[in-house]
Amino acid sequence: MKFGFDIDDTLLNLREHAFRLYNSKLNKQISIDVFHALTTIPIHDAFGLTVEEGRQMWNSHREEIFYSAPPFAEAVQVLQELVSQGHEVYYVTARTVNHCERTKNGLIQLGFPVQEGSFYCGMGDTEKVHIIRDLGLDYYFDDKPAVLDTLTELDLIVYAKDNSYNRHMDIPRIMNWSELLGILKIN
Ligand SMILES: [Mg+2]
Repeated sequence: MKFGFDIDDTLLNLREHAFRLYNSKLNKQISIDVFHALTTIPIHDAFGLTVEEGRQMWNSHREEIFYSAPPFAEAVQVLQELVSQGHEVYYVTARTVNHCERTKNGLIQLGFPVQEGSFYCGMGDTEKVHIIRDLGLDYYFDDKPAVLDTLTELDLIVYAKDNSYNRHMDIPRIMNWSELLGILKIN
């Protein structure tokens, strides 16, 4: 079967990593509980930053955030297991074009299975649906409501990677990647 995955906050724990980085850079000690209670994707509110200050903070640290964010627990191992079982694994990320090559290499360095023709990058959130349809995926995983909302008409199984900002969505969700292999046995 064909499995598609978003990268940021689906396979990589990007926002939590950024939150910890902001604490360090801003010399703050905002509790991780505040992070887990955020219902917005941007994290600047937790640090008392305005939208513009938050944008500047993100932009000036984007490189560091992108290329040092760790995978979620079990993500690498479970995707490797899928490939070893003969499944196909695809990556679909809206990171901008100038980040595509480094992002792909970063996945490889982290141990994710990245095969020829399996990495799609640089599209807008609302364009992901076209790639997902054209690839003929059986399963797709993403965290972002604005993306998940575009996939309801497609003939595939969509899961939300659970996060505080997508819990209002009535959709199958995966809390931890260790659940995935069990899900396959049920479906
Ligand atoms: Mg994402």
